[in-house]
Amino acid sequence: MTEFTTGESVWDAVRGHDAVVAGFRRAVGRGRLSSALLLAGPAGVGKRLFADVLAQCLLCLRTPDDVLEACGTCKACVSAAADTHPDLHRVRLPEGKREIPLAAFVGEKEDRGTSGLCYELSRRPALSERRVAIVEDADLVNPQAANAFLKTLEEPPAGAVLMLLSDRPESLLPTIRSRCQTVRFAPLPDADVAALLLDKGLAESPGEAEQVARLSRGSLDAATRLADPEVRGLREVVRKHVGRGGPVAAAKAVVGAVEAAGSDAPSQRAAAAWVFAFCADLYRDRLAGLSEEFLEDGPAAADRLEHAAAALDRLSEAEAQIARNTSVPPVIEALVCDLNRR
Ligand SMILES: [Zn+2]
Repeated sequence: MTEFTTGESVWDAVRGHDAVVAGFRRAVGRGRLSSALLLAGPAGVGKRLFADVLAQCLLCLRTPDDVLEACGTCKACVSAAADTHPDLHRVRLPEGKREIPLAAFVGEKEDRGTSGLCYELSRRPALSERRVAIVEDADLVNPQAANAFLKTLEEPPAGAVLMLLSDRPESLLPTIRSRCQTVRFAPLPDADVAALLLDKGLAESPGEAEQVARLSRGSLDAATRLADPEVRGLREVVRKHVGRGGPVAAAKAVVGAVEAAGSDAPSQRAAAAWVFAFCADLYRDRLAGLSEEFLEDGPAAADRLEHAAAALDRLSEAEAQIARNTSVPPVIEALVCDLNRR
């Protein structure tokens, strides 16, 4: 393998997937990169960023073929980064649509077969040595379109690399899945989510970044939503009032915060979901703390341990009520009253 050192690497932007990147470096080093890849894993863990960086590496005009790197400055790199590279094709869910239509692959009726992804891929590359396709939300490709894409997937034009991205790979047609090499993306480690939040200026301190990261379950998308000022406000209200102070005043504060999210049911339900997540986090923290105390002090902490466990049960009950479409404010009010009476 040729040594290629530039100091900085385009892969530096991809966090938390070192093993996947290393696997790709080896595959490219041996000239064995699969031409059909399914990048599968939870939403918000960096699959799209990974696909973008991989595309840039595959299109770069300066790095040797057996090195998975991009110079960042050649014409191909610059246009790939700007998403204007003529050999980089992207298919995603059209705005306002629920599925990716056939036309995205074979063109609209009037120009069927002379536009769309399958046609584009069949043409000679215009700038780089190959064409690269990224199909985002691959599980939303409609069955007709998926069938039209099968042949291209099975016999891609020479050098072409097709990447399918999916949060729900199990809902892809088995015929599609079986033609791709599946690459699994795990949730991001908390430390990486925390570092990304700080990098993006979405958290004010390392402590806050760590707390938000812990709640995000390894998804930068979730962490970004958690860092939203409105959601942050909800979290502060929960941490300030739930489990402390008089039940009525606490319930009033939390219901007020939920109602401030919007007067419509969907906004209030979304706010309630955050309240549940923050309460659960609060009591899980307590439970963890109490378990340690319990080990040291013996039965003295037993009562409090039981209370925290009961609080988590009470939370699940409220969650189930919301799931049954009960109006949000009364459920939250009764929940916080109960929690603060304990
Ligand atoms: Zn380049």
